[in-house]
Amino acid sequence: MDRRLPLVLLVLSLLALLVSCGAPATESPAAAAPPPPPVPSKYVVLTFDDGPDPKYTPQILDILETYDAKATFFALGREVAANPELTLDAHERGHSVQNHTWSHPDLRKLSAASFKSQVEKTDRSIREQTDSTPNCLRPPYGAVNSLVTQRAAALGKKLMTWTVDSRDWTRPGQAAIVRRVLAEVRSGSVILFHDGGGDRRQTLAALPTILKTLKDRGYGFRPACG
Ligand SMILES: [Zn+2]
Repeated sequence: MDRRLPLVLLVLSLLALLVSCGAPATESPAAAAPPPPPVPSKYVVLTFDDGPDPKYTPQILDILETYDAKATFFALGREVAANPELTLDAHERGHSVQNHTWSHPDLRKLSAASFKSQVEKTDRSIREQTDSTPNCLRPPYGAVNSLVTQRAAALGKKLMTWTVDSRDWTRPGQAAIVRRVLAEVRSGSVILFHDGGGDRRQTLAALPTILKTLKDRGYGFRPACG
């Protein structure tokens, strides 16, 4: 009997070990991982072109922050060079800053060398602020043909236009901008606004209603091209 005792003890120890392994781990509530934030299944992509603008871009950044909305800024290289701190600010607040050429030409009408220069100079000016190279190019006026597509691809750029034009650039009045966007929006929409290139007071006035209504309808706001 004495010689079997160590074996019995060993079996008992193993059983105890198995039971302890199978027991649920005790966790204090504080140690539990927080649940992941809900990802809205509906979303829109807010885009702002032709900036950064010293008058309007800071106000737009503040409105976006109020509604916890991340956007994509298609910046002109020459405006980034003139207002570098605004591009840095947009980037640091979690927005995407992408390429809208240096000086807003119709890309269909450029030589190969001018096309390359318009894109690469803008990349450089954005990269100096954000430390990253834009993945997307928005052609001014949405003007695209097969040559523009080929040349953009050769520079590693994805062309990105829009699906909902707020037509804020025609300055139709704040109510008309709100109405148009809310009538045309659906999940996945890429909405075109402008933070630069002229008087954008109507865009500023329309944005809070648009963002609040979209949030109430369950939309999230996703930056693009990140
Ligand atoms: Zn533009």
